[in-house]
Formats: sequence, C-alpha cells, structure tokens
Amino acid sequence: MVVSSFPSRSAAAAAPSAAALDIVQHWIGGRLTKAQGRTLEVFNPASGQVARRVAMASNDEVGNAVASAQAAFPAWADTPPIRRARVLATFLNLLNEHRDELAAIITSEHGKVLTDAQGEVTRGVETVEFACGIAHLLKGNFTDQVSTGLDNWTLRQPLGVVAGVTPFNFPCMVPCWMFPLAIACGNTFVLKPSERDPSASLFMARLLEQAGLPAGVFNVVQGDKVAVDALLDHPDVKALSFVGSTPIAHYIYQRSAQLGKRAQALGGAKNHMVVMPDADLDQSVDALIGAAYGSAGERCMAISVAVLVGDVADQIIPKLAERTRQLKIANGMDPGAEMGPIVTRQALERIRAYIDDGVASGAQLVVDGRVDPKTGRAFTVPGYESGFWLGGTLFDQVTAQMRIYREEIFGPVLSCVRVKDFTEAVNLVNSHELGNGVACYTRDGNVAREFGRRIQVGMVGINVPIPVPMAWHGFGGWKKSLFGDMHAYGEEGVRFYTRQKSIMQRWPESTSKGAEFIMPTAK
Ligand code: NAD
Repeated sequence: MVVSSFPSRSAAAAAPSAAALDIVQHWIGGRLTKAQGRTLEVFNPASGQVARRVAMASNDEVGNAVASAQAAFPAWADTPPIRRARVLATFLNLLNEHRDELAAIITSEHGKVLTDAQGEVTRGVETVEFACGIAHLLKGNFTDQVSTGLDNWTLRQPLGVVAGVTPFNFPCMVPCWMFPLAIACGNTFVLKPSERDPSASLFMARLLEQAGLPAGVFNVVQGDKVAVDALLDHPDVKALSFVGSTPIAHYIYQRSAQLGKRAQALGGAKNHMVVMPDADLDQSVDALIGAAYGSAGERCMAISVAVLVGDVADQIIPKLAERTRQLKIANGMDPGAEMGPIVTRQALERIRAYIDDGVASGAQLVVDGRVDPKTGRAFTVPGYESGFWLGGTLFDQVTAQMRIYREEIFGPVLSCVRVKDFTEAVNLVNSHELGNGVACYTRDGNVAREFGRRIQVGMVGINVPIPVPMAWHGFGGWKKSLFGDMHAYGEEGVRFYTRQKSIMQRWPESTSKGAEFIMPTAK
C-alpha cells in the first residue's frame, strides 16, 4: 500500500524544491478533494523551509464534508457495534504497522524528536484499542418488572455528525482521543486538524479507508477559523470536541452552548511540579528536565513551573542549570536528539518575548536559551541555520505576579518558584486559573495522599511528572483548562458521543382496563 510520499529519515531535513510543493487537501466522502481557494505554508521547523502548502476550507467545502458525513450516518449508525469494532481493529493493526512512517511525518512538520513522535502514535493506538471494546461499552441497563408486566431499559445512541478541532502539538494522538470513539459509537466524523501540521490527518484517513471504513464516515477539512466557524454553525453538526488554547476553547464552548450543541473544549495549561524536601532530588531533576524540555515544552502536560519547597531550590537549581545547558538540541530526525525546534517562527518569537518579559520583571535568568553560550550569538543548530531554534531556558526567583508565571508560554522555559512549605505550595497551585496537570515529588505517603486530595487540578502525578491518563480513564483538566463537563476519551468519551434513551415497554393482555388519569406508579 502506498499511503504517502513523505520524507524519510534522511530526507526530512533537506530543502524541498519550491517548484513542486504538494498541497495538503481535504478528505471528503472517502477521497481527496482538489483545493479550491486559499492555501497556507507548512514548514519543516528544523530547516525553516516551506515543505508543502495546506488548503484552507471555505464554508462550502465544510458544507460538503458535513453533507458527506450526514449521508453516511444512517447506515453506519445501524451497523452492529461489533462490526464497527472490527473495522477499528483493522485500523489499529495498520496504525501499528505504519507507526514509524506516521511518526516521521509528525517530526517533519512539528519538529519533535522521532522517538517522541513514535510515543505519540503509541498513545493514539491505545485509544483505538479502547474503542475496539465498544460493544461492551455501549451495553445499556435493564430493569425487569418496574411495574406489573412493564419493563424499562436505557440505551445509548449516536448523535449524528460530530466534529473535532485539534491543536498542532499532537497531530495524531489528539485526533485519536476523538474520532475512534466517536465512530465506534456510530457517529460520523469531520476532523479539522491544525494547519501547522496537517499531513498526519490524511495519513490516518487513508489507513481508515484501507481498514474498510465506509466513505463519508471519517472526513477531514483543512483550514483555520473559517472552517471552525462553519463547523460550529452547521445545523447538522451535533457536537464539537476541541483541544487547543484557552481563549479558543472558551469561544468554542460559548458558541456551542448558544447553538444548543454539545461541546467538550480542552484548553491550555500551566503545569506545576512540587518538589518536597524529602524527595529524591536526582529523580526530581530527571523528571523536571524531561517534562519541561521534552517536545520543546510544546505539550499540554509539560511542566513549566517547578515549585521548590524549603531548601530544595539551593540544592536543585545548580543541577537543573547544568542539565539544561547539556540538552542535545538537533533536528528531530537525528537519533541523538533530545529536543527539536519550535513549531513556527511566530511561536519562537512569542517565546523569546516571554523570556524578555521575565528578565524585565525581575526573574533571575539562570540559563538563557536565546543565546548560544559558545558564540554569544542567537541560538542555532549547525547545518540548520534557518530553523526555528531555541535552547532550554531556566528562570529562578519567579513570583506569582509575573507574566511568565501566570501565562502559558508553551515553549522550553522552566520557571522556578520558591515556597516555604507544603501549604504554600498547594495554595500556589490552587490559585492558578489553569488546572490541567500537576505533579508532586515526595517520599512521604501522607504528603502524597493530602496532595492528591487537596489539589484543584484534573490530572495528578505522585512521583510521575506527566500523568497522562490511560485510554480507559479519560483525559481532562479543571478550571480554565476544560470547558464542558466531560473529559476526553474513556467512558466519559462514550457518554459524550452518545445520548441516552429510556424505553418502557408493556405487552398488554388483549383486554383493556380503560384509560388511566393519574401519574403512573408501580402496581
Ligand atoms: P490553538 O488554540 O491556536 O489552535 C487549536 C485549533 O483551533 C487549531 O485547529 C486552529 O486552527 C483552531 N483555531 C485557532 N484560532 C482559532 C479561532 N480564532 N477560531 C476558531 N478556531 C481557531 O492551539 P495550538 O497553538 O494549535 O495548540 C497549543 C495549545 O493547545 C496550547 O494552549 C496547549 O496547552 C493546548 N493543548 C491543550 C491540550 C489539553 O488536553 N488540554 C492538549 C494539547 C494542546
């Protein structure tokens, strides 16, 4: 099977021929469409070169995708769940088989290192594995004899056409939080992936087609706000799953509520890791380095704040500084790379501006990722001078009033805040308006237990820096990290993508007892 002509390990860094740029298209009704309007550049962040262009869907193109999904819905909803699961099981095998190819596509457009991209695909695979159990997950409840001769049961039915809008930082895993479960439940799906790294979506569309998914059950529209608004406003789109930054998540949730649609809108993050004085400090340093700088900090579960309790700061900061300076920053396709480039030049400029702001507001810049310590010039990677590079950055003496503390930077910047004790640490975390993930490093079971109970954050790690829940537990933050009442995937995902129906049934004896005018009660 030819699923793509995407870059190999060696080709990923090479400059593309400007004359032959592919246009990443929409996938509607089981085939690629021809781009009709605007297109946007897609970069290889390591080389800084335009690698291809991506189509930007118009209102009409979104309408075509929704119409295709709407047409496919009745037959797909009527397909027995076990047969829907079999299609997903075939897709699962294909995804495993093509994991490395898909990971290379992700690296070429996102920049993250190849092993990290492989890990992303594996986390996506797990949600498909969960969705393969849909026949069991859709089992309803049944009560025999709620009244004499009367039974009552509940079942869950699909909603219709549902849509997913996803961020750049996980172009495989986050769509996989949505479409496998949505279509397993009997819905049809329109995905609007990030315009920064759109190719993974088409790769998965082709695998789904090869797995035997009927045309129209899964569609992709590439694009930006125009496409998202068209999906939001379309009367046939019954629910929206969104993952991205907080302002857009809030917008999606508000507009969906106005239109009477279901929405689950996952937003941004500012994840703290509390290090208690009794913690294993070497383990804590490893955890902070990996969780702050892995994927260049462009993870919604990245640790961006180290909360150092008591005398921990004086012991740990020199070690953090040394390790931050030693990070192996390179093209993500290089086998030794620990951290790749930033996704776009605009994102790089935004992160650099936050570093400037941290310095101006009085934080102590311990490691400055803007500068190459050997040359004193702007940080870059030899051979890739046009890439979007930034070194790991470490701040000490950060306070809760500073912008670098309050706002999500979404880059390789770790801010250290010093607090006197556990209570101050918990209060700090609980006062932040974002509450996606959090971690606590300690050897004290009681501290760990209290932390888990008192912390106001959706996903908690005890000696686990990035506690991304497994596919059957569901993913979601608290406060401004999630608008909506249900988490992504897991059983909450099944509830989100289905609605409950209650049926009462009686097969009366042939003789009627006459009309009843009082509220029915058990007899
Ligand atoms: P983003 O909010 O800029 O974009 C996300 C999606 O929304 C994209 O598909 C984009 O095309 C679309 N979009 C952008 N602007 C829009 C607008 N004005 N109207 C309608 N749609 C719009 O986010 P991003 O930069 O792609 O991703 C990074 C963000 O995502 C970070 O804030 C990160 O924390 C967050 N994120 C959160 C989670 C989570 O589970 N909570 C997971 C991954 C990423």
